[in-house]
Amino acid sequence: MVQQAFEIANTLTPPGSRQIMQLALAQLYTQSPLTVPLEVVHGKQPGPVLLICAAIHGDELNGIEVVNQLLARINPARLRGTVVAVPVVNVFGFIHKSRYLPDRRDLNRCFPGSEKGSLGSRVAHFFIDEVVSKCTHIIDLHTGAIHRANLPQIRAKLDCTVTRQMAEAFGAPVILDASIRDGSLRAVAETRGQPVILYEAGEALRFDPLAIKGGVRGILNVMRRLEMLKGQAGKVHSMPMIAKSSSWIRAEQDGLLQLKTRLGERVAKGQCLGTINAPLGVAHCDVIAPKAGIVIGCLTMPLVNEGDAVVHIATFEEVKQAELSVERFVDELDIHPETI
Ligand SMILES: [Zn+2]
Repeated sequence: MVQQAFEIANTLTPPGSRQIMQLALAQLYTQSPLTVPLEVVHGKQPGPVLLICAAIHGDELNGIEVVNQLLARINPARLRGTVVAVPVVNVFGFIHKSRYLPDRRDLNRCFPGSEKGSLGSRVAHFFIDEVVSKCTHIIDLHTGAIHRANLPQIRAKLDCTVTRQMAEAFGAPVILDASIRDGSLRAVAETRGQPVILYEAGEALRFDPLAIKGGVRGILNVMRRLEMLKGQAGKVHSMPMIAKSSSWIRAEQDGLLQLKTRLGERVAKGQCLGTINAPLGVAHCDVIAPKAGIVIGCLTMPLVNEGDAVVHIATFEEVKQAELSVERFVDELDIHPETI
């Protein structure tokens, strides 16, 4: 089969070449057009069309840097198939350092959207129509919310074989067999039969070197697994561990949180993970792990109200193996930040 030119946004990219373009997404109040940057890397040989998108939540920056570093590593002359990279989907939120759209909607609850709907609905519809529909596989890059950091992890529906292969090939230490959320890109892609995995790593409005390096390596691994790149999907010795379940521990009182745990740590049932104190130290409450598991997310800011999510714990059949998987991931990437 001969590779044809790849068309997206009415622009043709010939085989064996790359092209940066600007998609006209919406307009500002001034009626100035707002565009989304997109790069196509079109291989000489036909193969999968992989969409890599980031910042659907505009303040999630790690994925943008992942895309940036990844594109520098891909040579269209050696690529089988096509990479469509959209580093900033929610340009509105990105400009305002915000997760949301200007109308405070969450773009990742607006899919599939509609042509005549609200701003979020129209952006979602346009993105599906112009970009997602041209692709066969999707990697969606996210970080934790503001003041919340995530251990690098993959979220995916594992009952689809290809999705599972992509999730495992990525090589993040933890996989959550996560149910889909209505209105998310992942939900729509799955309905359309497009295998999709979501990479969650780090914290909003921060660059996290481990999250970024793990993300670049993970996507390259997936591309090798899909035979878009030559070579073993590899140099990953850590077997990603699939979590049985996960849940957040919530603050039981208002106050100042002092965490005694960190991302990636194995915790025992009943272990004290931190304390919440009043400013003058009168009220005091311990944050207790209700079950054994691995810390896959935590609050990074000490101010809490009762009910706030504080520590996210994933449980495993083999929790020791999961701990080992985290340790190997960190060792392989050779980045040892304080928070991990
Ligand atoms: Zn997100």
